[in-house]
Amino acid sequence: MSGLHTLTIHEAYDLLRSGEITSRELTQAVLERIEAVEPKVRAYITLTPELAIQQAEEADRLREAGNGSDVLVGIPLAIKDNLCTRGVLTTCASKILQNFVPPYDAHVVERLRRRSAVFVGKTNMDEFAMGSSTENSAFFVTRNPWNLECVPGGSSGGSAAAVAADMCIASLGSDTGGSIRQPAALCGVVGMKPTYGRVSRYGLVAYASSLDQIGPITKDVTDCAILLNAICGKDHRDSTSVDVPVPDFTAALVPEVKGLRIGVPKEFFAQGVAPEVAEAVYRAIRLLEEMGAIAEETSLPYIEYGLACYYILAPAEASSNLARYDGVKYGWRTQELTGHIDMVEKTRGEGFGAEVKQRIMIGTYALSAGYYDAYYLKAQQVRTLIRRDFDRAFEQYDVLITPTSPTVAFRIGEKADDPLAMKLADVCTIPVNIAGLPALALPCGFQDGLPIGLQIIGKPWDEQTILRVAYAYEQATDWHRKKPAL
Ligand code: GLN
Repeated sequence: MSGLHTLTIHEAYDLLRSGEITSRELTQAVLERIEAVEPKVRAYITLTPELAIQQAEEADRLREAGNGSDVLVGIPLAIKDNLCTRGVLTTCASKILQNFVPPYDAHVVERLRRRSAVFVGKTNMDEFAMGSSTENSAFFVTRNPWNLECVPGGSSGGSAAAVAADMCIASLGSDTGGSIRQPAALCGVVGMKPTYGRVSRYGLVAYASSLDQIGPITKDVTDCAILLNAICGKDHRDSTSVDVPVPDFTAALVPEVKGLRIGVPKEFFAQGVAPEVAEAVYRAIRLLEEMGAIAEETSLPYIEYGLACYYILAPAEASSNLARYDGVKYGWRTQELTGHIDMVEKTRGEGFGAEVKQRIMIGTYALSAGYYDAYYLKAQQVRTLIRRDFDRAFEQYDVLITPTSPTVAFRIGEKADDPLAMKLADVCTIPVNIAGLPALALPCGFQDGLPIGLQIIGKPWDEQTILRVAYAYEQATDWHRKKPAL
């Protein structure tokens, strides 16, 4: 059977279960696809083909023995390179971790491994997840499968590009300010950031701990629900993971939106949002209205301060989290040193890239005595106001719908020298992290051959409603079936 690499998780599962294909064949097809297109796209920092074949054969044995009924058995997945994988290099796309081989699995990886998923490799990203284009990777830039001159978005650009180019069946990313949703939108795939506390971050290299969340990047909404099922739940090793019931998210996949109340916050369609993007999102909302939903314009006045608030809080937390890279415990250590202080200084000077250093300095500044109240404390207060904006909106609406990214994918290099323009790429996604809410990015059109993504934001712990709306829209459209030419 040809084209196995294009399958979704649920399609592959049907064929595996009926015995029409084996996991080895599926994995082989994905590895061949990688051989064919990875030289153009460059989504992976590390590939583990032998391991993948071994795991696939093991999965086939499980199935033959009658123990393969789980939907993830033998499914080839890709993992963002800031998630620890036992025995496999985990670099965070940073020179400072370029030799780091974790002795343990991240919680999410462990759960997938236990369910006999197959791991094909670790995906490229912006260094320490700081960026929106993968241009901040210390190693190389990933290219957008829809147009190789363009960025795939970031920071989970490798994970999104790998899914869009069929170099894996699905992947995991992390999202601190949009790093799952923005690249998913720019690559024309589905990406979800769950509610803060839904997924344990044990083994995720920390960037900004009050914002970080792990989530799925997939070819369709059904796969998103399947992968979400696999990674959610309380884990005592991450004290922020919350002990709330985890529903079966696939049960939410009914194309039914009658009476559903959609808020359309006008601030997300303001300045900077390309007219073509806004139009595609409005068209999607009209389609949901035709299906029986009730949409209404609303306003979240404090959203305007989202970006400014984030760029105090995230760097402040990063400056603390990244203090651990001192040349003693992890990865890179400078070659020439005259003493401890000198060693730490040189190690960090050589090991971190420019963007990471800039964030550490901004964060340290914002936390210093004398500036703390003016910056960090103020940002925390603004955070509360933004959260209240959302709380108020959700008294009236079941979901909010906005663009995911204000524009389609931009050209490599276009924003690299303009930090503000780059940061504006996350203007629609960042407020969601600030408020800890779940949100999903979903393809809803094209501009100049590049995908446009809409964003569905939900109430805390209400991923089901988001998935239901996304599924209803997906069933009524065929954007998710479009493939890049490559
Ligand atoms: N682009 C944003 C940043 O650089 C968000 C990144 C992320 O979500 N990890 O911080």
